[in-house]
Amino acid sequence: MLIMKFGGTSVEDSAAILRVIEIVKSETGRKPIVFVSACAGVTNQLLKIALLSADQKKSEVDDLIAKIKSRHEHLVDELISTELPKNYLKGKISVYAHEIRNLSQAISILGEATNVARDALAAYGERLSSMIIAQAMEENGIKASLVDAREFMITNASYTQAVPILNIVERKAKESLLTPVEQGCVPVTQGFIGATEKKITTTIGRGGSDYSAALVGSMLGAEEIQIWTDVDGVLSADPSIVGDARRIKKMTFNEASELSYFGARVLHPLTILPAIEKDIPVYVRNSRNPSYGGTLIAKGDGKDPSVAKSIAYKEHITLVNLVSSRMFLAHDFLEEVFAVFNNYGTIAHTVATSEVSVSVAVDDTTNLEEMKNEFERFAEVSSSNGKAIICVVGENLRNNPGIVGRIFSALDGIRINMISLGASEINIGFVVDENDIEPAVKALHKELFSNPSSHGLPKEIFD
Ligand code: ADP
Ligand code: ASP
Ligand code: MG
Repeated sequence: MLIMKFGGTSVEDSAAILRVIEIVKSETGRKPIVFVSACAGVTNQLLKIALLSADQKKSEVDDLIAKIKSRHEHLVDELISTELPKNYLKGKISVYAHEIRNLSQAISILGEATNVARDALAAYGERLSSMIIAQAMEENGIKASLVDAREFMITNASYTQAVPILNIVERKAKESLLTPVEQGCVPVTQGFIGATEKKITTTIGRGGSDYSAALVGSMLGAEEIQIWTDVDGVLSADPSIVGDARRIKKMTFNEASELSYFGARVLHPLTILPAIEKDIPVYVRNSRNPSYGGTLIAKGDGKDPSVAKSIAYKEHITLVNLVSSRMFLAHDFLEEVFAVFNNYGTIAHTVATSEVSVSVAVDDTTNLEEMKNEFERFAEVSSSNGKAIICVVGENLRNNPGIVGRIFSALDGIRINMISLGASEINIGFVVDENDIEPAVKALHKELFSNPSSHGLPKEIFD
């Protein structure tokens, strides 16, 4: 059995959906289960409706609801010719538009878009796209069966960032998805959305469809997880910064996990963990270019000759600097610092320490003021925002000490706020000002991937 996840751009219009259908058709022999995202941009529009409703911006809300409605009606017109399902889908779209309007009214009466309401709204994106895609598959000769992910993706009640309750998801996913597979159907379901045990709609975090697909794939023991997107695979850098970023043909679970954690949007950060657990290969492929091989993410075979694999960056970072007020070595200084991080549930992305000082890069600053008050009991504390973490990832970095020199010479002229070396042996990370992301990533890419004197990049790994 196979998991196939199609992201927003892969289902953005009827031409894209027809491409998806051809891709799924070519795999029906391998018993696919299909996860889809909302059509590109729709999740953002729905969340905007939540904000605008709280601000009583009724006409802008009406405008957005009308846009969402007509976009999906248009999809039905273009993809579905059989009268009965066509009318059924149009009716459903009207009902959903009506429900969206009701939710918007409730938000404007309350004057606040709660996370419960935001999730209820956001979920309509996937609910709309999936029902149209499932029917379009039927029209094109695939026996498809629409499954509501809220039947099986049972989560806690941390709305907008809900966490799947694994044992329940596993049991329910088997019930909901394996039966249609056994009956020779292709289940079509939604990524990103779930529900609490009390059946209240949740979402598992932006970009979470990848995680939905990988998690269920791992629970059902899929032979392969395919993530179909709008680029040729995982690339050597964000293509919006580096136009000639190279496709990586093969990378390890650890490399992909590290990259996604440090900001490469192509994979949600949690995607790789379930695949590692069951050792399931993950392919990242381009739905606009399906004959191209994409990227295979799997366990390393130790034979990869490449040094650096890719460059990622994470924006909106704040650097917190702490100097122990006790002036000389206090063995419990770090313990006290991290106890505060722990108490506030704030993740330290990168850390550098000396005997009496520590710098910590964070992106969650919700509790920073309270944390500073606590730090002041034992340290002088300052913070600066507008920073970014850039990191170079590759399993073989550890075996190539010369790489550090190459990286930092390439960054000549760029102010580096902090360096983290060796914590994870497959990642060299450093903090720069946000304005320097682009020149830094470009300079590094040139040095590591496109400067002719610097490679021999192995052909089995890079295009
Ligand atoms: P989807 O809607 O299919 O989930 P996303 O927009 O979430 O797609 O992720 C794909 C995008 O990730 C690409 O269009 C690309 O701009 C961006 N991206 C950032 N870093 C990388 C990278 N290293 N490799 C590939 N894509 C990347
Ligand atoms: N539609 C959701 C989002 O835009 C989930 C996803 O696409 O993965 O965040
Ligand atoms: Mg995505």
